[in-house]
Amino acid sequence: MKIDTLFMDHSLPLDDETGYLISRIHLEPQRIQDPGEVYDFINRSDDPVSLAKRTLYLTRNKGALIRNCPGTCHYTCCDYTILHAGTFCTMDCSYCILQAYFHPPVLQYFAGFEPVRQALQAVFLQNKIFRIGTGEYTDSLIWEKVSLMPEFLVKTFAEQQNSVLELKTKTVNIESLLNLDHNEKTILSWSLNTPEIIRSQERGTASLTARLEAARQAESKGYRLAFHFDPIVIYPGCEEQYKTVIQKF
Ligand code: SF4
Repeated sequence: MKIDTLFMDHSLPLDDETGYLISRIHLEPQRIQDPGEVYDFINRSDDPVSLAKRTLYLTRNKGALIRNCPGTCHYTCCDYTILHAGTFCTMDCSYCILQAYFHPPVLQYFAGFEPVRQALQAVFLQNKIFRIGTGEYTDSLIWEKVSLMPEFLVKTFAEQQNSVLELKTKTVNIESLLNLDHNEKTILSWSLNTPEIIRSQERGTASLTARLEAARQAESKGYRLAFHFDPIVIYPGCEEQYKTVIQKF
Protein backbone atom coordinates (compact mmCIF):
# COMPACT_ATOMS: atom_id res chain seq x y z
CA MET A 1 0.00 0.00 0.00
CA LYS A 2 1.61 3.28 -1.14
CA ILE A 3 -0.11 6.20 0.55
CA ASP A 4 0.93 9.84 -0.02
CA THR A 5 -1.74 11.60 2.02
CA LEU A 6 -3.34 10.47 5.27
CA PHE A 7 -6.51 12.08 6.63
CA MET A 8 -7.98 11.16 10.01
CA ASP A 9 -11.38 12.02 11.44
CA HIS A 10 -10.95 14.50 14.30
CA SER A 11 -13.00 12.31 16.68
CA LEU A 12 -10.90 9.15 16.26
CA PRO A 13 -8.66 8.41 19.24
CA LEU A 14 -5.00 7.65 18.84
CA ASP A 15 -5.09 4.11 20.25
CA ASP A 16 -3.40 0.77 19.54
CA GLU A 17 -5.35 0.28 16.30
CA THR A 18 -4.93 3.75 14.77
CA GLY A 19 -1.41 4.11 16.17
CA TYR A 20 -0.36 0.84 14.51
CA LEU A 21 -1.83 1.92 11.19
CA ILE A 22 -0.19 5.35 11.27
CA SER A 23 3.17 3.77 12.14
CA ARG A 24 2.86 1.43 9.14
CA ILE A 25 1.87 4.20 6.72
CA HIS A 26 4.78 6.40 7.88
CA LEU A 27 2.78 9.61 7.51
CA GLU A 28 1.52 12.20 9.97
CA PRO A 29 -2.29 12.27 9.65
CA GLN A 30 -4.12 15.49 8.82
CA ARG A 31 -6.96 15.75 11.34
CA ILE A 32 -10.18 16.87 9.68
CA GLN A 33 -13.60 17.93 10.98
CA ASP A 34 -15.57 17.22 7.86
CA PRO A 35 -15.30 14.35 5.32
CA GLY A 36 -16.06 16.98 2.67
CA GLU A 37 -12.41 18.05 3.00
CA VAL A 38 -11.36 14.60 1.70
CA TYR A 39 -13.95 14.65 -1.08
CA ASP A 40 -12.81 18.12 -2.20
CA PHE A 41 -9.15 17.08 -2.12
CA ILE A 42 -9.89 14.13 -4.43
CA ASN A 43 -12.36 15.90 -6.69
CA ARG A 44 -9.95 18.75 -7.38
CA SER A 45 -7.57 16.29 -9.07
CA ASP A 46 -7.52 15.77 -12.85
CA ASP A 47 -7.42 12.04 -12.07
CA PRO A 48 -9.52 11.41 -8.93
CA VAL A 49 -9.33 7.61 -9.18
CA SER A 50 -5.50 7.54 -9.20
CA LEU A 51 -5.27 10.09 -6.40
CA ALA A 52 -7.83 8.19 -4.33
CA LYS A 53 -5.66 5.06 -4.49
CA ARG A 54 -2.87 7.03 -2.74
CA THR A 55 -5.05 8.90 -0.24
CA LEU A 56 -6.24 7.15 2.91
CA TYR A 57 -9.01 8.41 5.17
CA LEU A 58 -9.17 6.90 8.67
CA THR A 59 -12.67 7.24 10.01
CA ARG A 60 -15.55 5.39 11.62
CA ASN A 61 -18.29 3.56 9.82
CA LYS A 62 -21.29 5.72 10.65
CA GLY A 63 -23.74 3.35 8.92
CA ALA A 64 -24.53 -0.35 9.23
CA LEU A 65 -21.46 -2.48 9.88
CA ILE A 66 -23.16 -5.68 8.74
CA ARG A 67 -25.66 -5.88 5.93
CA ASN A 68 -27.05 -8.45 3.53
CA CYS A 69 -25.56 -8.27 0.07
CA PRO A 70 -28.39 -7.06 -2.18
CA GLY A 71 -27.25 -9.42 -4.94
CA THR A 72 -27.52 -8.55 -8.62
CA CYS A 73 -30.83 -8.67 -10.51
CA HIS A 74 -31.35 -11.88 -12.53
CA TYR A 75 -28.33 -13.58 -10.90
CA THR A 76 -28.41 -16.43 -8.40
CA CYS A 77 -27.50 -14.89 -5.05
CA CYS A 78 -24.51 -16.47 -3.25
CA ASP A 79 -25.98 -15.48 0.14
CA TYR A 80 -23.11 -13.27 1.17
CA THR A 81 -23.24 -11.04 4.23
CA ILE A 82 -21.14 -7.90 4.06
CA LEU A 83 -18.95 -6.70 6.91
CA HIS A 84 -18.35 -3.10 5.93
CA ALA A 85 -14.75 -2.62 7.06
CA GLY A 86 -13.47 -0.21 4.42
CA THR A 87 -13.97 1.13 0.93
CA PHE A 88 -12.08 1.24 -2.37
CA CYS A 89 -8.76 -0.34 -3.28
CA THR A 90 -5.13 0.48 -3.91
CA MET A 91 -4.85 -1.92 -6.85
CA ASP A 92 -6.11 -0.97 -10.28
CA CYS A 93 -8.14 -3.46 -12.29
CA SER A 94 -9.53 -2.00 -15.51
CA TYR A 95 -12.95 -3.56 -14.90
CA CYS A 96 -13.22 -2.62 -11.21
CA ILE A 97 -16.79 -1.60 -10.44
CA LEU A 98 -15.67 0.29 -7.32
CA GLN A 99 -14.12 2.98 -9.52
CA ALA A 100 -17.59 3.81 -10.83
CA TYR A 101 -19.51 2.98 -7.67
CA PHE A 102 -18.03 5.55 -5.27
CA HIS A 103 -18.52 9.26 -5.99
CA PRO A 104 -15.93 10.42 -5.26
CA PRO A 105 -13.78 7.32 -4.83
CA VAL A 106 -12.38 7.37 -1.27
CA LEU A 107 -10.06 4.80 0.27
CA GLN A 108 -11.51 4.58 3.78
CA TYR A 109 -10.47 2.46 6.71
CA PHE A 110 -13.17 2.11 9.34
CA ALA A 111 -11.47 1.99 12.73
CA GLY A 112 -12.96 0.48 15.87
CA PHE A 113 -12.66 -3.13 16.97
CA GLU A 114 -15.36 -2.81 19.63
CA PRO A 115 -18.28 -1.83 17.35
CA VAL A 116 -17.26 -4.66 15.01
CA ARG A 117 -17.10 -7.12 17.88
CA GLN A 118 -20.58 -6.08 19.07
CA ALA A 119 -22.11 -6.27 15.60
CA LEU A 120 -20.63 -9.72 15.06
CA GLN A 121 -21.77 -11.01 18.46
CA ALA A 122 -25.35 -10.07 17.53
CA VAL A 123 -25.01 -12.14 14.36
CA PHE A 124 -23.33 -15.08 16.09
CA LEU A 125 -26.23 -15.33 18.54
CA GLN A 126 -28.69 -16.00 15.71
CA ASN A 127 -29.47 -19.62 14.99
CA LYS A 128 -28.32 -19.45 11.39
CA ILE A 129 -25.18 -20.10 9.34
CA PHE A 130 -23.64 -16.89 7.97
CA ARG A 131 -20.89 -16.39 5.39
CA ILE A 132 -19.54 -12.96 6.20
CA GLY A 133 -16.89 -11.16 4.21
CA THR A 134 -15.09 -7.84 3.90
CA GLY A 135 -14.48 -8.17 0.17
CA GLU A 136 -17.53 -6.41 -1.27
CA TYR A 137 -16.44 -2.75 -1.11
CA THR A 138 -12.67 -3.27 -0.89
CA ASP A 139 -10.03 -5.98 -1.25
CA SER A 140 -10.05 -7.75 2.12
CA LEU A 141 -6.29 -8.07 2.45
CA ILE A 142 -4.81 -4.84 1.08
CA TRP A 143 -5.24 -3.85 4.74
CA GLU A 144 -3.17 -6.69 6.19
CA LYS A 145 0.12 -4.80 5.81
CA VAL A 146 -1.11 -1.73 7.71
CA SER A 147 -3.91 -2.86 10.01
CA LEU A 148 -4.59 -5.34 12.79
CA MET A 149 -8.21 -5.72 11.65
CA PRO A 150 -7.74 -8.93 9.56
CA GLU A 151 -6.01 -10.61 12.52
CA PHE A 152 -8.74 -9.39 14.91
CA LEU A 153 -11.45 -10.80 12.62
CA VAL A 154 -9.80 -14.22 12.28
CA LYS A 155 -9.48 -14.47 16.07
CA THR A 156 -13.06 -13.28 16.65
CA PHE A 157 -14.54 -15.80 14.22
CA ALA A 158 -12.43 -18.58 15.76
CA GLU A 159 -14.34 -18.15 19.03
CA GLN A 160 -17.79 -19.00 17.61
CA GLN A 161 -19.38 -21.90 15.76
CA ASN A 162 -22.13 -20.84 13.34
CA SER A 163 -20.45 -18.45 10.86
CA VAL A 164 -17.46 -18.25 8.57
CA LEU A 165 -15.37 -15.26 7.62
CA GLU A 166 -14.33 -14.95 3.98
CA LEU A 167 -11.32 -12.76 3.22
CA LYS A 168 -11.18 -12.24 -0.52
CA THR A 169 -8.13 -10.84 -2.26
CA LYS A 170 -5.87 -10.46 -5.26
CA THR A 171 -2.86 -9.93 -2.98
CA VAL A 172 -0.59 -12.39 -1.18
CA ASN A 173 -0.91 -10.52 2.15
CA ILE A 174 -1.44 -13.41 4.54
CA GLU A 175 1.74 -13.37 6.61
CA SER A 176 0.17 -12.14 9.87
CA LEU A 177 -2.65 -14.68 9.56
CA LEU A 178 -0.66 -17.84 8.95
CA ASN A 179 0.09 -18.76 12.55
CA LEU A 180 -3.24 -17.75 14.08
CA ASP A 181 -5.53 -20.26 15.73
CA HIS A 182 -8.33 -19.80 13.17
CA ASN A 183 -10.42 -22.82 14.20
CA GLU A 184 -11.28 -23.35 10.50
CA LYS A 185 -13.72 -20.46 10.68
CA THR A 186 -11.89 -18.30 8.14
CA ILE A 187 -11.87 -18.96 4.40
CA LEU A 188 -8.98 -17.36 2.57
CA SER A 189 -10.25 -16.67 -0.86
CA TRP A 190 -8.54 -15.62 -4.07
CA SER A 191 -10.01 -13.93 -7.07
CA LEU A 192 -8.26 -15.57 -10.04
CA ASN A 193 -7.95 -14.95 -13.72
CA THR A 194 -5.79 -16.08 -16.59
CA PRO A 195 -2.19 -14.80 -16.68
CA GLU A 196 -3.07 -12.79 -19.80
CA ILE A 197 -5.92 -10.95 -18.05
CA ILE A 198 -3.90 -10.46 -14.88
CA ARG A 199 -1.02 -8.98 -16.89
CA SER A 200 -3.15 -6.73 -19.09
CA GLN A 201 -6.10 -5.76 -16.85
CA GLU A 202 -5.20 -6.23 -13.15
CA ARG A 203 -2.52 -3.63 -12.49
CA GLY A 204 -0.79 -3.82 -9.13
CA THR A 205 -2.15 -7.26 -8.23
CA ALA A 206 -0.15 -10.41 -7.44
CA SER A 207 0.62 -12.82 -10.27
CA LEU A 208 -1.39 -16.03 -10.65
CA THR A 209 1.63 -18.04 -9.51
CA ALA A 210 2.04 -15.88 -6.41
CA ARG A 211 -1.67 -16.09 -5.53
CA LEU A 212 -1.66 -19.88 -5.84
CA GLU A 213 1.55 -20.14 -3.79
CA ALA A 214 -0.07 -18.03 -1.05
CA ALA A 215 -3.10 -20.33 -1.18
CA ARG A 216 -0.81 -23.35 -0.73
CA GLN A 217 0.80 -21.73 2.30
CA ALA A 218 -2.63 -20.98 3.79
CA GLU A 219 -3.76 -24.56 3.15
CA SER A 220 -0.66 -25.88 4.90
CA LYS A 221 -1.80 -23.94 7.98
CA GLY A 222 -5.24 -25.54 7.88
CA TYR A 223 -7.16 -22.65 6.33
CA ARG A 224 -10.12 -23.42 4.13
CA LEU A 225 -9.72 -21.94 0.66
CA ALA A 226 -12.00 -20.51 -2.02
CA PHE A 227 -11.35 -19.36 -5.56
CA HIS A 228 -13.47 -16.96 -7.58
CA PHE A 229 -13.45 -16.11 -11.27
CA ASP A 230 -14.83 -12.63 -11.00
CA PRO A 231 -15.00 -11.64 -13.84
CA ILE A 232 -14.59 -14.27 -16.54
CA VAL A 233 -13.39 -12.40 -19.64
CA ILE A 234 -14.33 -13.73 -23.07
CA TYR A 235 -11.48 -13.47 -25.61
CA PRO A 236 -9.92 -15.74 -28.25
CA GLY A 237 -8.39 -18.77 -26.54
CA CYS A 238 -9.95 -17.99 -23.16
CA GLU A 239 -11.57 -21.43 -22.74
CA GLU A 240 -8.22 -23.24 -22.83
CA GLN A 241 -6.54 -20.63 -20.64
CA TYR A 242 -9.25 -20.78 -17.95
CA LYS A 243 -9.03 -24.60 -17.99
CA THR A 244 -5.27 -24.33 -17.46
CA VAL A 245 -5.83 -22.05 -14.46
CA ILE A 246 -8.29 -24.52 -12.95
CA GLN A 247 -5.85 -27.39 -13.43
CA LYS A 248 -3.28 -25.48 -11.38
CA PHE A 249 -5.28 -25.73 -8.14
S1 SF4 B 1 -8.47 -5.95 -6.65
FE1 SF4 B 1 -10.74 -5.92 -6.65
S2 SF4 B 1 -11.28 -4.05 -5.54
FE2 SF4 B 1 -9.12 -3.86 -6.13
S3 SF4 B 1 -9.08 -2.75 -8.11
FE3 SF4 B 1 -9.12 -4.97 -8.57
S4 SF4 B 1 -11.33 -5.49 -8.79
FE4 SF4 B 1 -11.20 -3.50 -7.73
